[in-house]
Amino acid sequence: MDFDALIRDIPDFPSEGIVFKDITPLLDDPEGFGAAIDALAAPYEGQVDRVVGIEARGFILAAPIALRLGAGFVPMRKAGKLPAATIGQSYDLEYGTATIEMHADALADGDRVLVVDDVLATGGTAEAAVELVGRAGATVAGLSFLIELDFLEGRTKLAGHDITTLLHY
Ligand code: AMP
Repeated sequence: MDFDALIRDIPDFPSEGIVFKDITPLLDDPEGFGAAIDALAAPYEGQVDRVVGIEARGFILAAPIALRLGAGFVPMRKAGKLPAATIGQSYDLEYGTATIEMHADALADGDRVLVVDDVLATGGTAEAAVELVGRAGATVAGLSFLIELDFLEGRTKLAGHDITTLLHY
């Protein structure tokens, strides 16, 4: 499957100099979307109890992956969005910091967890997600991304973890 043909580059979004990887053409193609979900889920067949999706585009990928794996889906959201008691983790952005949160009771002790997002860029978001999963007493079985921006070396923040990516730029 030529996934690359289903990803659209949007220059200078959301700010000057950033090339945004737009996955909406892939989402609009049932065959491509299905093949991407299969490819991201396959390495973790029988190996995960829960799939964590990172807001917002991570949700779109993580939910069907969770169903495919027979695992629970857990949303990890921007601060202040989840209704019940949460645990949170802050991480550095280019300017300032951001916080992601998860329901404090979302993961059980010893759960094997797959973390899913659309793009691995600097790795700050994924690193914070890994930290939160660990604080909840669960184990990261792996991380799956549609796209990895190799030149940003986000992978170095995730050393020792199993990473699956379908596209490298
Ligand atoms: P980072 O924490 O730097 O790895 O950034 C990852 C998050 O930012 C992911 O949730 C992505 O959705 C988003 N992101 C970063 N860079 C891009 C990009 N060039 N195109 C699309 N999304 C991006």
